[in-house]
Amino acid sequence: MPSVAENQPAFTPMDVAVVGGGLGGLAAAVALRRAGHKVRVYERRDFNVEVGASISCAANGTQWLHAWGVDVPGMLPCVLMKLVMRDWESGDILNQYNLEGYEQEWGHVYNMFHRQDMHAGLLKAATSEEGEGTPAEIVIDHICETVDSKAGTVTFRNGTTIKADLIIGADGIRSAVRSEIGIVADKKSAPQTCYRLNVLTKDIKERGLVDYAYEPAIQFWGGMEGANGRSKYYKIVMTPCHGTDVVSFYCFMPTELTEHHQEGFTFAEAPVADILKGKYDELDPDAVALIKNSIERMPWRLYVHQPYETWVKDTTCLLGDAAHPMMPHQSQGACQAIEDAAALGLIFSPSNPQFTGSSENIHRGLKLYERVRKPRATRVQMASARATENLNERIGFTSCSPSSELLRAKQGMLTISEMNSYRMEDHVKALLQETEV
Ligand SMILES: Cc1cc2nc3c(=O)[nH]c(=O)nc-3n(C[C@H](O)[C@H](O)[C@H](O)COP(=O)(O)OP(=O)(O)OC[C@H]3O[C@@H](n4cnc5c(N)ncnc54)[C@H](O)[C@@H]3O)c2cc1C
Repeated sequence: MPSVAENQPAFTPMDVAVVGGGLGGLAAAVALRRAGHKVRVYERRDFNVEVGASISCAANGTQWLHAWGVDVPGMLPCVLMKLVMRDWESGDILNQYNLEGYEQEWGHVYNMFHRQDMHAGLLKAATSEEGEGTPAEIVIDHICETVDSKAGTVTFRNGTTIKADLIIGADGIRSAVRSEIGIVADKKSAPQTCYRLNVLTKDIKERGLVDYAYEPAIQFWGGMEGANGRSKYYKIVMTPCHGTDVVSFYCFMPTELTEHHQEGFTFAEAPVADILKGKYDELDPDAVALIKNSIERMPWRLYVHQPYETWVKDTTCLLGDAAHPMMPHQSQGACQAIEDAAALGLIFSPSNPQFTGSSENIHRGLKLYERVRKPRATRVQMASARATENLNERIGFTSCSPSSELLRAKQGMLTISEMNSYRMEDHVKALLQETEV
């Protein structure tokens, strides 16, 4: 009788093609190179145009950066100590959530990165000679046009066709891979649009502006119905990042006020006047002064996407915004992309050789990936849409006290505990055992 070990198929390293070298695609490259696979990342452009804005990375994302040996200090994080809710007109503090005990409770801090720093840190971890596995290869100027999921091929606009055992569509909110595998985006224009902009701390100091970034916090103005008929869609989210050298603003307003109608975030710079209109006339004058002294003002058109029925076809899967595009109001888009990458790394690890070696095996691994990730990511996606309507739905403000957290959890809202007490390793193990029975 052959032993169980003899019956186990051998682990077969895969050729993995990741389409899209954003935060999610690079996280997948890190996780899968560490799991022993050969990874190539195909990016449509070069990386010099990566947009600068803050990305908050709560403990559920940060934990994986540490697990993967990413140089987190090199990504110049600001460790967040508070979430602060301010009055739109006066800037007075209305409510705050203290994060001082956060690291002790959850094992990791709540980081705020500058997007470019986070991108550079993940790129280094994916391609460095140091670290586990074979360094991933980055192929720029490759725009994916078609995917044949049965044949495992991707064809790019420049005429190149490549073949891979596993194809990951990490090509963002307007994913080409998603449409190529037959998933039609069910989306509608959000009632709210966004401009992101930065203010340099050196300018704040030199020009005598109010330094709201005196402590590492996320500060919010608006986000709920206000005085003089101000709509809940007026909202500002402001945080320091890049050490504390940059103060990043997301300025939201009702969609009908915008001149910018395209989805995404790489456009020509917008004039200040495009932002300071409507109820921005009534905004806290200190915040207005900061906006007037800003640089890198870019529009960010928002759409509400419904969850897709599946993320997988044959040996192709979706990851990050391609799989679960969400409104930005839970600050979880990048964290959820990191969790997707972590799930792929766990499932396609040498301890699960049954998911490698043939297209059928890889497909089964991808179906498990979908089972692990889709329910949780969908919950965050739906909660992000709800938080558009009410800032009190944001993770953190749902946990202002233990009793309110319990109540909010009962009402189905997302809480810090739900996000941070989740153990993906245990979830994967439990699903694997279920499958074996
Ligand atoms: C206003 C706003 C604020 C946000 N703030 C936060 C926050 O604080 N915290 C947080 O966790 N998340 C935040 N997010 C969400 C976060 O930015 C995204 O969820 C995250 O970047 C998703 O990563 P991704 O790799 O899936 O997509 P992206 O980062 O968009 O990367 C996609 C990549 O694919 C490439 N690509 C696209 N098409 C093709 C193609 N056809 N061929 C080849 N390459 C292609 C693109 O060039 C890009 O590099 C915010 C989003 C918005 C809109």
